[in-house]
Amino acid sequence: MTIFKKVSDLQKFITFYADNGREIGFVPTMGALHKGHISLIEESKKNNRLTACSIFVNPVQFNDPKDFEKYPVTIENDILMLEKAGCDILFLPSVQEIYPEGTKQTKKYDLGYLETILEGKFRPGHFQGVCRVLERLLNIVKPHNLYLGRKDYQQCMVIKKLTELTGLDKIINVQICPTLREDDGLAMSSRNMRLTPGDRTKAPAIYKVLQVIKENINTMNIEAVKDMAKQLLSDNGFRPDYVEIADASNLRLIEKWDGKKEIVALVAAFLNDIRLIDNLDLN
Ligand code: AMP
Repeated sequence: MTIFKKVSDLQKFITFYADNGREIGFVPTMGALHKGHISLIEESKKNNRLTACSIFVNPVQFNDPKDFEKYPVTIENDILMLEKAGCDILFLPSVQEIYPEGTKQTKKYDLGYLETILEGKFRPGHFQGVCRVLERLLNIVKPHNLYLGRKDYQQCMVIKKLTELTGLDKIINVQICPTLREDDGLAMSSRNMRLTPGDRTKAPAIYKVLQVIKENINTMNIEAVKDMAKQLLSDNGFRPDYVEIADASNLRLIEKWDGKKEIVALVAAFLNDIRLIDNLDLN
């Protein structure tokens, strides 16, 4: 694996390979890698001649500065994991390299409805920061295939919309990969390593609650299911931000279900100061 810290060096390398007709797959991350990230690398390796991963803890997508300061950094272990997975390129830029003109946000991405709900509502500015870094990274790497995890369901939709807004959808295919879970059902996440041992034993309840929603969605009305889910989360020591049921294709929140439409349950909840998110398709 070759590690690049400078945009210009990475671009020279990539241009050479792209000119030689090699398909490039790209996995953007914020590091503190786990098997969920590696599953994206593996998917890229299956379908591309060259796989690039980036590790960049993007300061402009953190609406809570404490969350940014405490974001786990495990770079040596990340490099070992990527080497083992056969990743070809690691891009490890500095903030200056990504934002040479500073981090102050000037451009506004018109994400419309998508930014008014769920993570958009509870983390103001978050998706603007996500779009900003992704637009920059995609213009640097110019991949043929971009690999994203379904664990961040709304983020996948936002990034798809970004590619449409910027015309990048004409050159980049967005590939959405399944959520990898621990044996007890907890969705793998870099933030899990910050859970106290006590909270780690409580954390799988978030997935159990999603399963309870799935078991009851056919027989209970949606408001009652959501109330029950919030109560279950509170009983298990969580402070829920939201529990919502949405149309899987556009994330419109639904109050009634015809039993046919593809729908998804989405949850965000705190265990002490760690915020976890997860989702499950209900069909
Ligand atoms: P992050 O480092 O959290 O920004 O995540 C980088 C990419 O990995 C994003 O596309 C995430 O959706 C994806 N990802 C994170 N956790 C998982 C998981 N448990 N399973 C699959 N993909 C994941």
